[in-house]
Amino acid sequence: MRSTMQDFPLTVRSIVAHGVSVHGDHGARTVIAPGQVSRATYAEIGARAARLAGALRRLGIVGDQRVATFQWSNQQHLEAYAAVPAMGAVLHTLNIRLAAEQVAYIANHAEDQVIIVDDSLIPLLAGALPKIDSVHTVLVNGDGDAFALEDAGKQILRYEEVLAAEPEEFDWPAVDERDAASMCYTSGTTGNPKGVVYSHRSLWLHSQAACTAQGFSINADDTILTIVPMFHANAWGLPYAALMSGANLLLPGPFLQAQTPVGTIDQERPTVSGAVPTIWNDILNHLRNNPGPDLSSLRLVLCGGSAVPRSLMEAFDKEFGVRILHAWGMTETSPLAAIARPPAGLDEEEMMRFRVTQGRPIAGVDLRIVDDNGIELPADGKSIGELEVRGPWVTGGYYRDDDPEKFHDGWLRTGDIGRVDPLHYVTLTDRTKDVIKSGGEWISSVELENTIIGHPDVLQAAVIGVPDERWQERPLAVVVLRDGASVTAEELRTWLTGRVAKWWLPENWSFVDAVPLTATGKYDKKVLRRQHADQLLTVQTI
Ligand code: AMP
Repeated sequence: MRSTMQDFPLTVRSIVAHGVSVHGDHGARTVIAPGQVSRATYAEIGARAARLAGALRRLGIVGDQRVATFQWSNQQHLEAYAAVPAMGAVLHTLNIRLAAEQVAYIANHAEDQVIIVDDSLIPLLAGALPKIDSVHTVLVNGDGDAFALEDAGKQILRYEEVLAAEPEEFDWPAVDERDAASMCYTSGTTGNPKGVVYSHRSLWLHSQAACTAQGFSINADDTILTIVPMFHANAWGLPYAALMSGANLLLPGPFLQAQTPVGTIDQERPTVSGAVPTIWNDILNHLRNNPGPDLSSLRLVLCGGSAVPRSLMEAFDKEFGVRILHAWGMTETSPLAAIARPPAGLDEEEMMRFRVTQGRPIAGVDLRIVDDNGIELPADGKSIGELEVRGPWVTGGYYRDDDPEKFHDGWLRTGDIGRVDPLHYVTLTDRTKDVIKSGGEWISSVELENTIIGHPDVLQAAVIGVPDERWQERPLAVVVLRDGASVTAEELRTWLTGRVAKWWLPENWSFVDAVPLTATGKYDKKVLRRQHADQLLTVQTI
């Protein structure tokens, strides 16, 4: 028997139409200078999105052609989020932190036609633009000097001027919910970046999952500060979740250094914010050195992208009364897939045991671990294997790129290694490419890092495996100390004793000014391994 339900498509347009009408009086604030924001209601943003769609049509954007953004998180970027998929085209958010060569590779691979760029990012785009053959037009947001783009042989127009020439209505086409709505490239730490293409349906379902109480629990009373950028994994789905729920958005623009988000939180009083652990760690460090700003408006701090150390959660709990909620996901999973909400009825200490895990899957997502032969392992909290994931907002392939190795019986192989406990909480111990095998046994670089970072003098710690004659591999801890701290390798090793297994204790230590980060803010262990191989790291062996 077929259902009697209407077959109503799940589209980005329906998310946006809801946000700009039902929640039209809510809206987005953009930080335009430290201490200064610009404001627009969702109704105004909806009208401007219609103008943008009109302008893009006039520029020749038809069907599923790609419109790229090279933008910070700001109101105009949100307008592209609202307009481009809804007009049937595909929004391609370019990561501004990639090298020019990679930006050009990705934009050509996606065959972007138009790029919308913030004027402050013109110098970065200028290096890539002459190499992007598919692009014919660049829309410049802001009235900054666009001279650097002029030699690339593209049409350069001002965003506000093209919008001003269009009406506030657009004839939004009907789109198939399974068609492409937007795309993002993976960070490509191995090989070339690969394109993940989201459908209208997957974005709709993902947004709703983000709004649920078991997800990010977002509602119309919230104001969300999206420190995680709109050019990385859809800002964790927060912009569409905001339009769907009526939550206000607070978009930080280019102001991401610890001092400015802290000022923004103090002044604009967001209730929810999301960022990678490195950022929260910087914020913690900043606040310890400059106490005073008030974070008490935050009811929830979302954190993921790499493992959240227990010490970071405890510091936010105790020093600011702010809860960090740990989540796991990937560009390939839209990204929200697991969230570490502890079971009900536990005390703080018991809850922490679950809060430090990568969480359990949210409804719609299936997770499992498998051994080297692809055989599923038990969820016994002990067996360790590769995490596999499937679900309606998990990719089933890559754009114009067969990569059968990444898929297994309809599951995505995540490249993450970990264990699952009987309550379905996942604990990741490593990436497949980062595991350290010492004397035939695995050492978890993630657990070592999280423990070392618990030392009060340590700001950052990244652990890589380095070749060892006797044990094949041994851990090398690359450490950044807090300002003014002078703890030694011996002292750190002594402090670690008893906190991790004895044979895990690193004998190799390197103190550096900063750990290199990838374009998405994770420790770049590929660079660290190369620096070590090229003897660019000063290593102390104790
Ligand atoms: P990306 O596609 O750039 O967002 O990277 C996805 C990868 O980030 C995952 O496969 C994990 O290796 C890592 N990751 C994301 N969230 C977490 C987390 N909460 N803990 C540990 N690793 C994470």
